[in-house]
Amino acid sequence: MSMMTTPTRPLLGQTLAELTAWVTAQGQPAYRAKQLHEWLYRRGVRQFQDITVFPKSWREQVHPDLGRSRIARRCVAPDRTVKYLLQLQDGHFIETVGIPSGERLTVCVSSQVGCPMACDFCATGKQGFTRNLAVHEILDQVLTVQTDMARRVSHIVFMGMGEPLLNLDAVVDTVHRLNQDCGISQRAMTISTVGVPHQIERLAQANLQSTLAVSLHAPTQALRQQLIPSGRHYSLEQLLQDCRSYVERTKRRVSFEYTLLAEVNDTPALAHQLAQLLRGWQSHVNLIPYNPILDAPYERPQRARIEAFQAILTSHGIAVTVRQTRGLETQAACGQLRSLAGKLSESLKFS
Ligand code: SAH
Repeated sequence: MSMMTTPTRPLLGQTLAELTAWVTAQGQPAYRAKQLHEWLYRRGVRQFQDITVFPKSWREQVHPDLGRSRIARRCVAPDRTVKYLLQLQDGHFIETVGIPSGERLTVCVSSQVGCPMACDFCATGKQGFTRNLAVHEILDQVLTVQTDMARRVSHIVFMGMGEPLLNLDAVVDTVHRLNQDCGISQRAMTISTVGVPHQIERLAQANLQSTLAVSLHAPTQALRQQLIPSGRHYSLEQLLQDCRSYVERTKRRVSFEYTLLAEVNDTPALAHQLAQLLRGWQSHVNLIPYNPILDAPYERPQRARIEAFQAILTSHGIAVTVRQTRGLETQAACGQLRSLAGKLSESLKFS
């Protein structure tokens, strides 16, 4: 029988000071908070009972919620990218991806269950929105990958399911916890947004050292709002103005993502227009060749077409890279994360 106080918040997500308050309220010496912190954030312990440095009597007495999810499914792509389907404590599913590359291990984290932005070429957008993730649910993804792949996570990209700037407080708090408690550099984290009014300014105020990536996908308002319905209420012009203010305020570069859709936004004329739009910016463009999803009428451009688009930007002096596709075979690539359909198609493939 548990008559001890149960914490109102999961232990994961709490700072050392908060853990110390909890530990001492349990009548335990303060140094146990340091141990708890180490087990939570470095070892990725899933259950309080497994913290073997704690006295057995205490472990049997209290059953605090650590805030961990359950791995419902795990798929390894031929390129070693691992996609996880995680079940949250309320039963909802999210996906997270571990991407090894040389010395690096990048985790692509989700910030919401589903997404309300409804971008026409994105699997998560097709799924609709369920809810925001809490800090511990984002941290849990990183710790799950780190423990399961048995190597230190070095980089974080907020490019999984969801729109991070619609869950900004939790995202900023998570960046601090990943930095201070997991020891990951803020500079090794990227927050990607399709744009939410006023939120880029709020992100600037948070004063992070992380990189802001903005999903542009089109150099004109007409084309952009066709691909991104939310772009109707937040014009391309306003978005870029907000990016400019962000650069001025933070002295940090913004990088722009541009998903290339064959015959839709990959023409040479649009490449020139994009270059005009970004003239005079210290920016960086990341081209993402479209990854196929169900129910979308798009195709990935031919390699020559991608290279031509890239060459035009380069000729205008714009720094541009083409994102290497990872995890395509397991639907783990950009835009392919989807908690329901993804699960079904996987069970067909992997059962
Ligand atoms: N909501 C945020 C985070 C998602 S990041 C954002 O929009 O920025 C994922 C990146 O992959 C975004 O740039 C997104 O537009 C892009 N993307 C979505 N669907 C894609 C697909 N099917 N193929 C390639 N890139 C896609």
